[in-house]
Amino acid sequence: MRALSLASRFLITLVVSAVLPLLLYGWFSLLGMRDQIDEQVVRVFLPQLAADYAQKIETRLERTDQACAIVRELSRRVLDTPLDQRDGELAAFGEQVELIPDLLSEFLDLLLLADSEGDVVFWQDGRRLDPNAHQRRAELIPESVAEESWFREAQRERGVHYLPWGRSPYLHRGMDYRSMDPGSHHLGVAMDVPMGDGHSGVLFALIRWSEVQAVIDEARAVLIEEAGLASAQVFVVGRDGVVQAHTDRARYGLMLKPAELGQRLADAEAFGRCESVRDDGVALRVGFAPGGGDSARAFVMGVAVPEDELFAASDDFERVLLLAIIVSIIVLVAWSLAASRAITAPVKSLVQATRKIAGGDLQVAVPERGGPELGELAAAFNLMAHELAVGRDRLAHAERDQAWAEMARQGAHEVKNPLQPMRMTAQLLQRARAEEDPRAEQVAERLARTVIEQTEALDRIASDFRSFAGVAPAQRSDVTVDAWLQALRDQTARLFADKQLTLTFAGAAGDAVVSIEQESMARVFVNLVQNAIEAATEPVIVELGSRREGDHVVIDVVDNGPGVPAEVREKLFDPYFTTKTSGTGLGLAICRRLLDVQGGKIRLESTRPGETRFVIELPIA
Ligand code: ADP
Ligand code: MG
Repeated sequence: MRALSLASRFLITLVVSAVLPLLLYGWFSLLGMRDQIDEQVVRVFLPQLAADYAQKIETRLERTDQACAIVRELSRRVLDTPLDQRDGELAAFGEQVELIPDLLSEFLDLLLLADSEGDVVFWQDGRRLDPNAHQRRAELIPESVAEESWFREAQRERGVHYLPWGRSPYLHRGMDYRSMDPGSHHLGVAMDVPMGDGHSGVLFALIRWSEVQAVIDEARAVLIEEAGLASAQVFVVGRDGVVQAHTDRARYGLMLKPAELGQRLADAEAFGRCESVRDDGVALRVGFAPGGGDSARAFVMGVAVPEDELFAASDDFERVLLLAIIVSIIVLVAWSLAASRAITAPVKSLVQATRKIAGGDLQVAVPERGGPELGELAAAFNLMAHELAVGRDRLAHAERDQAWAEMARQGAHEVKNPLQPMRMTAQLLQRARAEEDPRAEQVAERLARTVIEQTEALDRIASDFRSFAGVAPAQRSDVTVDAWLQALRDQTARLFADKQLTLTFAGAAGDAVVSIEQESMARVFVNLVQNAIEAATEPVIVELGSRREGDHVVIDVVDNGPGVPAEVREKLFDPYFTTKTSGTGLGLAICRRLLDVQGGKIRLESTRPGETRFVIELPIA
């Protein structure tokens, strides 16, 4: 596995230490929140609300029953009255009925009394109904109800009988359309009115349904106001699963959807809730409660709330949590990048500076930034570089001193050699003269020759030392490499005309121009050729060549001599290193020095018997 970068490690640490706990905390709070909503709202609030309002409807129905029971007692008097006196009695009955509180205004839309033969003896419509339609309603009231099933049933069996919920033909003509108006729906009630002669008449009533609708609308208002559940629906279904009242009027008279919910509610024995029901793609939570006991008018009240709305708060929280996590991850990534850069940038500049120092450049300083620790490191580094530079200068100074001392010593030694034969010959001449030796003339001749020879040697030694001591280079000039080398070849060849030397030149540097000091460069080439001649045992061939390489001109000097022995190669350019008895060991040292001064380089590129290659590099001007 590849080692992780500082930034990634940093990031992972931050994520593990900050984002993960946040995520876990958020997740658990979210679950807790959902649980709480589920517990408090779905398990408790919804069924409780359904039960409360089912109770309200039931109370209303019971009060209606009680009012009807009073009417029933009053009706007995009417029906027991002989036919001829009945008119008066009916008028009194009508007045008394009017006096029963709320009966015809809130409880009933129609009250009808039939005698034991089924003849309608009295009817009264509800006061809330449109008075303008009274005449039309009067036309719908039949003369006799003897054929109605409820009439016969009520006569056969005493007590209260409920008719199926729906639209009554006594108030509405035509049953073929589905009305969505709660006011046109009713619950019909029929009850026997026992008479003194053992027969019984029947009292019939249509319970006003708008009031039931008002109750469920009120329940919905509570849901909206107290729980903020704007899409909540409240409804009443019969035990047959038909919607008898709904806050959505369009559902009146339809089977409750979805079917499994209708089934569940129709069978409900006690209040409860449904986990999650899908209706037209909307997930609902439903609380419900049965009402009306187990009579025929038994119903179930339901409260349905879309889950979206129910869990809106926790969904909001979830979104905020997600956002917080995303934002914190972005912040952390940015922060860890910035932080790791703050660390790596100083480290990188330290590495760069270290490389420079390794390359010999001690004039480096790294910026002292990156916090206290790295700043301190940088400061220590700078101090170290400074100390190194000072140390190197001192060393160089000492080396220079030593070199001068060495040179003086070597100079003295070199000068002694040519002086020795001169002195000896001079002493010889002195003695010959003193003894008046006839060979004195001959000795004088020899002395002259020796002096000439040895002063030449002295001259060479002097020029070597002068070059090495670095007599200030004369003016530099720009020369075209190939032309200059060609001239140099000719000049050098002339210089060594008495030696068995073949000097060739092959130029390929084109019109490259270098800025050099021609005289000292000439000395470099003379030194190289001189060395080649001195190393060779047979006629020597030296090849000069030039070429361009990037922004440099490279000059090869190749000889076909015996090559440089391995142990010598290392010290070749050291001053005073020589393998020759008469050598000064300064030739190559001078070459290197002269090239240094002109921004060039010289090195032994390769060597083997038959091919020794020195390479000179000069920057193109
Ligand atoms: P010197 O010529 O006075 O000895 P140099 O610095 O010119 O001093 O050369 C140093 C040594 O390098 C020589 O003594 C010789 O051993 C070796 N050397 C230089 N050039 C060549 C060459 N072309 N072939 C073989 N040996 C060489
Ligand atoms: Mg030499």
